[in-house]
Amino acid sequence: MTALGLYIHIPWCPTRCIYCDFNTYIEANQSLKERYHVALLKEIRETGIATGHPPLNTIFLGGGTPTTLNPNQMLEIIDTVAESFTLHAEAEITTESNPATLSLDYLRAIRRGGINRLSMGVQSFRQEELSLLSRLHDVPTVHHAVEWARQAEFDNLSLDLIFNLPYQTLSQWEYNLQQAINLNPDHLSIYSLILEAGTPMQRQVTQGQLPQPDDDVSADMYEATMTMLAESGFEQYEISNWAKRDIGNASFQPASVRRTEVSTPKLASAHNLIYWRNQSYLGLGAGAFGTYNQVRRANLKRPHDYIKRIETGTGLGMAQDEKTVEAIDRPTAMMEHIMLGLRLTKEGVSATEFETRFEVNLADHYQTAIDYGRSNGLLEWIEAGDDQRLRLTPSGYLLANRVIVQFIE
Ligand code: SF4
Repeated sequence: MTALGLYIHIPWCPTRCIYCDFNTYIEANQSLKERYHVALLKEIRETGIATGHPPLNTIFLGGGTPTTLNPNQMLEIIDTVAESFTLHAEAEITTESNPATLSLDYLRAIRRGGINRLSMGVQSFRQEELSLLSRLHDVPTVHHAVEWARQAEFDNLSLDLIFNLPYQTLSQWEYNLQQAINLNPDHLSIYSLILEAGTPMQRQVTQGQLPQPDDDVSADMYEATMTMLAESGFEQYEISNWAKRDIGNASFQPASVRRTEVSTPKLASAHNLIYWRNQSYLGLGAGAFGTYNQVRRANLKRPHDYIKRIETGTGLGMAQDEKTVEAIDRPTAMMEHIMLGLRLTKEGVSATEFETRFEVNLADHYQTAIDYGRSNGLLEWIEAGDDQRLRLTPSGYLLANRVIVQFIE
């Protein structure tokens, strides 16, 4: 049985960061929050029944800021999932968090309630950058939050950072990264700033109030990141994700990648691996989407609309419009499998799994695209047991889009 993950969207944030285009709303109205919580619990129960209480490997509370929920609400969600699905004994249960929303008591309560992985949106260790991003927290708060997380016995802690911020120099980025390394996290998710259309930050850049991000600087920062993290004992397993170097025997690793040179580190995000391995996941909450039984479903985006639909609906897909339910055809599924799998810098895409799943030979079907990638030093075949896996070379990480576009038919 392949892994199944569950994503749960909590759309509230205390304030709105100027670069954010996520489906998130400032938490002003307590009664709307309460109605949302009740609706979410109903959607969890109904989805469990409609899918036959399937085994679940991961739960991921994302947002928004899930840690705007009080501990009781968070634990009610986890308990309801546990009652509605067959939760794996070693399930990875993650919550995203904003350092400014955390306290030692809070972290202890959610850890006792079953959350076993904490992902913290740190973004920077320089106060002027945090202010520029309009983040709610300051630098000392990050240090406290990490210390509290360890005291609360979170032994799987991930920090998120963003590089190539306006005015940021390479050495300032290296400083940020070194501060993160010094905190000894188990996992790091590191992204270059993306100026999303319609965000205040994008407008400020367009109007010349902030400088345009520079692609060359971004590339230098990315390369420095790879070097510094490799030297600090982290293993890159995805284009933007690193985990402590410990290949161990991660839960839910497919047999084909266990204890081989393509093994993903033990503390890699099991939930995100489900996405990148193109496995099934359910998405619950406003605007959440999932892919289950080759059907992609996206919930109504606005919390108000979502709540109204859930209050009157039943069954799987109760919070969806017809237009947001899409059967994934084979060419799309194949394309997505490659697009996602090539993000996995260790594992890449297994030729054997591809053939089993799609009844198509990977090397033959995509010969032109593969030849392009290999002749430009961006793709490589790697032997793993009796399997062959196609993956990006380190030079290909920065040019992944250029490689992937060759696979589009
Ligand atoms: S905390 Fe995260 S989700 Fe909330 S506004 Fe900021 S970037 Fe967006």
